[in-house]
Amino acid sequence: MEKDKSCSSTETRQRSQSTKKLPSHLSTMHPLKLYERMIIARMSLTVEENLTPDQAGFRPGRSTCGQLLNHTQYIEDGFEEKQITGTVFVDLTAAYDTVNHKILLLKVAKMIKNKKIVSNIQTLLENRRFFVEMDGRKSRSCHAKKVDAELNNACRIVTGQLRPTPLPLLFRTAGIAQLDIRSQTHGSTEKHKQETDLRHPLFDHSYPRVRLKSRKSFRTVESVQPDQAVSHRLELWDNTTNEAIRPPKEQLPPGRELQRKDWVNLNRARAKVGMTASTLHKWKLKPNSECSCGNQNQTMDHILSECTEGPHCTDQDLRDCTDAVQAWITHWRDKI
Ligand SMILES: [Zn+2]
Repeated sequence: MEKDKSCSSTETRQRSQSTKKLPSHLSTMHPLKLYERMIIARMSLTVEENLTPDQAGFRPGRSTCGQLLNHTQYIEDGFEEKQITGTVFVDLTAAYDTVNHKILLLKVAKMIKNKKIVSNIQTLLENRRFFVEMDGRKSRSCHAKKVDAELNNACRIVTGQLRPTPLPLLFRTAGIAQLDIRSQTHGSTEKHKQETDLRHPLFDHSYPRVRLKSRKSFRTVESVQPDQAVSHRLELWDNTTNEAIRPPKEQLPPGRELQRKDWVNLNRARAKVGMTASTLHKWKLKPNSECSCGNQNQTMDHILSECTEGPHCTDQDLRDCTDAVQAWITHWRDKI
C-alpha cells in the first residue's frame, strides 16, 4: 500500500509539472481509444507478469515479425544440425473478434483483482463494431482481403491510375514504396532490434555452424537502424527509365494541389496509361484505336507529343507540372 501511495503522488506531481496540452499523437486520438490506452497503462505491468514468454501479440517489444523470425530461425537451426522440425499451424479466422468475452473478463479479473477495471473493460466490449470506410465502401473485416491488393487499390484511388498501369509506376506516382521494399526494410530494422533489444525473442541467439552457405536465413539479413528506414526504402526503390516520374520519394509528386480530375489526368499522362482510343479499343469499348487527327493509334505518347488536335508537353513538363502541362490538361480534360 505504501508503495502505491508514493507512486500516485509522484504521478500527480509529474502531471502538474507538465503542460496541460496533450501530446500531438494523443490530441488527434479518438476519446475511446485514449480511454483504452489509459486502462492498458494501468494494468499492463500486472498482466505482463502473468503471460507466457512465447506470447507475442500486443506486447511491448514483440511483434508478429519477431515471432515469425524466431520460428524460421528455429527451423534453420534444426536444418544446420541435421534435425527435422515439425510444426502445427492453427489459423483462427478473426481470432480477436470471436473471443469469448465472459472467459476473457474472468481471466482479467483473476490477474488484476480489480472489479472497477474489469467492469470498465466490459463496457468497452459491449455494443461495439469496427469497420474501415474507403471510397464509399465499407470493409467487412480487416482479414477479408489481402493487404497488398488493398494497398494497390488505395494507390489507384490516390493517383487515379487505371488498372493496366504497371505497378512500379503506380507506386512511384503515389509516393508509397512497394510491399516487397517495405517488407525488406522491415526485416532489416527487425534485425537491428534483434541485435540491440533484449526483449526480442531472438536476442543473443546463438546460431549453429553453417552447413550450406547458400541458405539465406534471418542471420544473413543486413541490420538497419529504425531512423534510417526511410532512406533505406528509397535506396531499394527501383529507378524507372520513365523521365516523366521524379526520383523515388515518399511524398506525392508535384501537382497534388490540382483539382481531382486534372491530378488524375496528370498522373495518367506520367504513367502513359490513360483512357485513350488505343486503351478503349483494347477493352473492346471502341471499334478501332484511331485518333480524331487521323493517326491510326491514339496512345498517350501520341497525344503528348504528336497529335495535331491539341498542345504538346514533354516528360520534363509532366515531371515538374509546368504551365505547358496545365494547357495540355485543359485540352484533354474529360477525354482521357
Ligand atoms: Zn491525334
